[in-house]
Amino acid sequence: MLGHNYMEPLVFGLSEKEEQGDSLGLSMYASKTEAPYLIFNGVPFMAETAKILNPSKTVLVADKTAGCSLADNYGAEDVKELKALYPGVPVMIYVNSYADAKAESDICCTSANAAHIAKMMPGDTIIFVPDILFAQNLEEELKDEKKVVYPGKDNTARGAICEVHEKFTLDDLLGIRESFEIPKGHPCRKLYAHWECRPNVLKEADFYGSTSQIMKDIAERVAANQLERAFVASECELTSNLAQEFPEVQFWTACSVRCSHMAQVSLGKIAKILEAIDQNADLGEYEITLSPEVIDKARTPIERMLEASV
Ligand code: SF4
Repeated sequence: MLGHNYMEPLVFGLSEKEEQGDSLGLSMYASKTEAPYLIFNGVPFMAETAKILNPSKTVLVADKTAGCSLADNYGAEDVKELKALYPGVPVMIYVNSYADAKAESDICCTSANAAHIAKMMPGDTIIFVPDILFAQNLEEELKDEKKVVYPGKDNTARGAICEVHEKFTLDDLLGIRESFEIPKGHPCRKLYAHWECRPNVLKEADFYGSTSQIMKDIAERVAANQLERAFVASECELTSNLAQEFPEVQFWTACSVRCSHMAQVSLGKIAKILEAIDQNADLGEYEITLSPEVIDKARTPIERMLEASV
């Protein structure tokens, strides 16, 4: 299939476990390659970031209709509305958003670096969009250091929620502790939760963080022989990946908590893109296109985040 006479395309396989930051790393890596095609096996907002950082390349995505409840429900007009309510307050936008919304923001963040970036932004207040649950968690995390303003917080602005992580309730977690015998404070049995979960879920968890932070904690505990059982309150494919990577740990997962958007992405669809490239066919069905103005404006908040993350 790849026996063509042009440089081979780079194919990036992105799953929920990489969504929180590694997609940016891959986008930066992609800017160093001379391959003319970047193919993202992820949802479109990730591929948009690759396009913004690599505007001269053809960026292709497995399924342009694969959405995200955060990105789909929040746009440039929503950012402008909140900015008008709080003039002069910097806007930090989660990477799980489309380019037009990023273009209206001051800086981007991932779930791994949101707290760090919020702290280093000027002033005593920051606007965080679009994830309302994540914002509430950030507000609690930064309560002594920075005021966090977000949609619905003393205003009527519209925000968004990750439809996957919001499914976990405190009752679910308490039931999981009991059913799977993961008591709070157990030295080798742990309950993990992602930043996008509800605040009372984070409070109940033994550890909360971004996907990469959860994975790091698990890896460190495994290396220290300190993890025998775990439940991760996040998208179920993450747990499938963790179970493969750490077979010595007994993982429990909620199969019903699955991202239908991520599930739209498949290797079969990537194969179709490769065939289309091979056959010199029209790639419009897969190609990410953004106006030069949006690329220009959205690049600044992304680059600021990359500089702040160093
Ligand atoms: S799990 Fe799905 S809905 Fe939630 S942030 Fe990721 S892509 Fe969006």
